[in-house]
Amino acid sequence: MDKLPLDLPNFEPGWVWLVGGGPGDAGLLTLYGLHALRSADVLVYDALVGEDVLKMAREDCVLEYAGKRGGKPSSKQADISQRLIQLAKEGKRVLRLKGGDPFVFGRGGEEALALVEANVPFRVVPGISSGIGGLAYAGIPVTHRDCNSAVTFLTGHNASGIVPDNINWEGLAQGSPVIVIYMAIKHLGDIAQKLMTHGRSADEPVGIVSRASTPSQEVLETSLGCCVDDVAKSGIEPPALVVIGEVVRLRSGLDWMGAMNGRVLTSDPLNLSKNVDKVANA
Ligand code: SAH
Repeated sequence: MDKLPLDLPNFEPGWVWLVGGGPGDAGLLTLYGLHALRSADVLVYDALVGEDVLKMAREDCVLEYAGKRGGKPSSKQADISQRLIQLAKEGKRVLRLKGGDPFVFGRGGEEALALVEANVPFRVVPGISSGIGGLAYAGIPVTHRDCNSAVTFLTGHNASGIVPDNINWEGLAQGSPVIVIYMAIKHLGDIAQKLMTHGRSADEPVGIVSRASTPSQEVLETSLGCCVDDVAKSGIEPPALVVIGEVVRLRSGLDWMGAMNGRVLTSDPLNLSKNVDKVANA
């Protein structure tokens, strides 16, 4: 790291760095993220942090799991915040590492506010959120000029584990051409139904990307009307992202990972040239 033409900020003892580890592939870490991993005394990490990312930690760094998955006992949010405060007050360089970006459905704000309350200094290092970078690994851009000028990021469940009830589903269905949903698999049927009730077509393309950017990444292309059955049939599992909208069609042109395994890509995945011919011949 010391050969980079970049002044990396010192990771001071007694500080907490709240760092996004990206969607899984360790190569997607930021330079600040890597610098934090190479400097931290203690690393408090979440379930969704990629294993290869953890391997980047300093050899004598203490790793503490604070996730909520994988059959391991879950840590309560307040306990995690208290633990960060305690470690910082002991004078440790504390790295709080989260999957994706800490401020995107990652409770990073809550933890940072607890640090503010306890007068613990902190820095935030954004990461590549799975809802953007994970989809890119599936060959699905979140915006594309021929498809959408807006995108909404949505969580499939709220703090109580149910579909968020403070969403204006009608406004969302009618106003957001592309919808990217985190934590969506459990309530996908309910969400798809709400969107169709408010005018989205059952034929609308849906992409489901599981374990994006990891060696076990899986992608399912389906439609709003069939997605629940197709998910059940395919056995695709969380963690997964659901993306609804025309951008999913671009995958036949942009599945660059598939192309590395021999998939032949089309340069006109939206069939625009055919439509232009139609207009020209009209
Ligand atoms: N802060 C994270 C999101 C945490 S919420 C971020 O910015 O990406 C947890 C949800 O993120 C999961 O339920 C899943 O929907 C999504 N997610 C995170 N990593 C993922 C991955 N590698 N593949 C697919 N979905 C992922």
